Amino acid sequence: MRNSQGKYTAASGISVAYGYKSKSELLRGWLVYKLISYDVIVNSLPKLIRWSSNIFGQNLFEKLMRTTLYGQFVAGTKTDEVKQIVDKFKQYNVKVILDYSMESDISTSITASNNVHKSSFNTELDESNTFKIYHPDERIFNTNMFNYIKNSNTSRELCGQSSFIAMKITALVRPLVLQKLNQFLESRITDHNLFDTIDSLLTTKNDFTHSLTPNELGEISNLLLRINRIIQTVKKNEGRIFIDAEQSYFQTAINKIVIHLQRLYNRNNLLVYNTYQCYKKNTLNILRDDLKKSKEDGFYIGYKLVRGAYMDQERRHAVETGVEDPIHSNFNATTECYKQALVETLNFTESNFVRVLVASHNEDTVRFALEQMEKRGIKPADELMSFATLFGMCDYITFTLAKSGFQVYKLTPYGPLSSLLPYLTRRAQENRGIFAKAYKDRLLHYQALKDRL
Ligand SMILES: Cc1cc2nc3c(=O)[nH]c(=O)nc-3n(C[C@H](O)[C@H](O)[C@H](O)COP(=O)(O)OP(=O)(O)OC[C@H]3O[C@@H](n4cnc5c(N)ncnc54)[C@H](O)[C@@H]3O)c2cc1C
Repeated sequence: MRNSQGKYTAASGISVAYGYKSKSELLRGWLVYKLISYDVIVNSLPKLIRWSSNIFGQNLFEKLMRTTLYGQFVAGTKTDEVKQIVDKFKQYNVKVILDYSMESDISTSITASNNVHKSSFNTELDESNTFKIYHPDERIFNTNMFNYIKNSNTSRELCGQSSFIAMKITALVRPLVLQKLNQFLESRITDHNLFDTIDSLLTTKNDFTHSLTPNELGEISNLLLRINRIIQTVKKNEGRIFIDAEQSYFQTAINKIVIHLQRLYNRNNLLVYNTYQCYKKNTLNILRDDLKKSKEDGFYIGYKLVRGAYMDQERRHAVETGVEDPIHSNFNATTECYKQALVETLNFTESNFVRVLVASHNEDTVRFALEQMEKRGIKPADELMSFATLFGMCDYITFTLAKSGFQVYKLTPYGPLSSLLPYLTRRAQENRGIFAKAYKDRLLHYQALKDRL
């Protein structure tokens, strides 16, 4: 991206960016980017995946995926495979955010049973807590919790102290229950103590609690127990955790949970990081409010800034439910919001503690961030600001920044193919805008391969 004279050059990026890849990996990269440049393929991806798994059988299907999408965008299934990537990236000063991918949405079904609920959430919870099961799906969420705990241990083992993992709240509770919690929290003006607020939801009969069954209230309390156990593990491992931002019908609840966790755990250092989606109209106000809270209540605040990954779905949902579209009307408005969020973050750092991760594949956004750093005298190695892209995408940004001494990360998913198929489809479909521009990644893979032959 920038050469030693500080000038932007694409050419310097090719050798730097793809030096870590073998010839066959370069060929696979070129092939994948070629395939996803066809809209018809991206649109039919779920069907294609289903058909090929039926036609080829599991073994051949896995081989096919490994030589294409899975191989390009996922680090692997086993710790050994992930270790190889982590070690390779280390040589280039690129750090890894380990992401054991799991997620769900409101299409998940509901069936309720009739257990009674009891709760209290005001303290950090100890490891011996066990869960009462309120819905059959809760077993999956417990498994997901243990996967996140394992992910934190793996991250500590492979990446060391202060390493990051990523987590999605929708992997830990039924989405319909999270959506109801979201509605409840949106109806509250203050959230000074989130768990007190939730306790009042769980113990006081009001109009809202009538819309939740006793079991759903139990599921909410289990969600908080699961989150707490994961964070306790991250704390024990001296690691850090990013909590992803998701669809707007969950996001008020997610944001309030994260702010509560930051207030609880980010007292002397940064453990819990948030995510702000700049494609949403209300993001700047929420960010300003959260910065103010961190200053007033004396907790450290850290987050990634993203554009947002659920635009098509958000717009469809707004039409279907007759609410205002929560997304900025055009791409430029989103970009302006991103820049403003970054500028206000950096203004805030002049007197307060904050860490920000520029999570974007957009070269203009990265360039804007670099200019801000230069203007404000922030050194590349300063942890105040760092950069991240997704595994398999835009290595020409990440590796070039790393070579110039910036703090850079790759968000690196791993896990069994079956659990990553939704991620791969989402990667292709929801990032359609990126894949339209993916010709650059494709050409650079081709160029790097040609240079090696
Ligand atoms: C490390 C990392 C972590 C991430 N974590 C999250 C997360 O927690 N939650 C989350 O939602 N996403 C997350 N994302 C994905 C991110 O939100 C974007 O979907 C993705 O990075 C594309 O944006 P960009 O800035 O990289 O690239 P760009 O090429 O600049 O973005 C292109 C995208 O912007 C979209 N767009 C945004 N706003 C508009 C608008 N108003 N009108 C038209 N198009 C618009 C386009 O559809 C297109 O998909 C993460 C990304 C990275 C790299």
